[in-house]
Amino acid sequence: MEELIILEPEIKEMIWGWEFWTVSAHPNGDCRVREGKYKGLKLSELWRDHREVFGNAKGDVFPLLVKRIDAKDDLSIQVHPDDEYAKLHEDGSLGKTECWYVIDSKPEGSIIIGHNAKTKEELKEMIDNERWKDLLREIPTKKGDFFQIVPGTVHAIKNHTEIMEIQENSDITYRLYDYDRLKEGKRRELHIEKSLDVIKVPYKDPDKNTGGIKDRLVSCRYYTVDKRIIDGSASYEQDKPFKIISVIEGEGDIDGHRIRFGDSLIIPYGYGRYTINGNITVLITGI
Ligand code: ZN
Repeated sequence: MEELIILEPEIKEMIWGWEFWTVSAHPNGDCRVREGKYKGLKLSELWRDHREVFGNAKGDVFPLLVKRIDAKDDLSIQVHPDDEYAKLHEDGSLGKTECWYVIDSKPEGSIIIGHNAKTKEELKEMIDNERWKDLLREIPTKKGDFFQIVPGTVHAIKNHTEIMEIQENSDITYRLYDYDRLKEGKRRELHIEKSLDVIKVPYKDPDKNTGGIKDRLVSCRYYTVDKRIIDGSASYEQDKPFKIISVIEGEGDIDGHRIRFGDSLIIPYGYGRYTINGNITVLITGI
């Protein structure tokens, strides 16, 4: 009988708040298995040495990274490269496609997605002259909002917003603007040239490719994310290489293992049917 893969989160204090890397095999925060027969192994080691747990899925590195981000202050304005650009310019790293589910937002909460420049020249002019208000596309957020952020999209999480982020296993970020903040007396490094290289102009909203499937949030070449609201008991089939369950509200159990808000775990290949009990809302992510 296959067992659930329960990981110890990697917790990171940032200049603007907290990040909880709940499913990560990235060297900057490689989660360890907390219990069971793989106890003590890092997720990267589990991927390398026990690929059968993941249905022998292909890839040099575990493909996804799941984080909960609690922003007390604004995150820097940033952009990520795609796989091809990162491979060439970032030592063979993956690029970053990511998506955000807003788990909590104050009434004044907002985020930045996209920009208003019509051409690369206009983009460069607006950046050079620090016309951030004109350039950046800021939109209000509320709990339950969902955003797909494709590479080349200017974006930032702002204060008063808490999100669950599912992304490619990458930590490559180009910082465009950091509100002139100081960290230990210094400004954090900006990456204007690379940002200009990768920002797509003009901005357009990405297709989420949900195929009209109920409660499907997004399906792209890297991940498929479904949302399930459970009040009582619900059973699902695990018939994919693996699935990641992330709790975005409430608490309950999955086949007797307690889960609560903020937790994520992996259901391995060949696990079969699983049952979630409780008053609980989860994201179910597969590749
Ligand atoms: Zn990002």
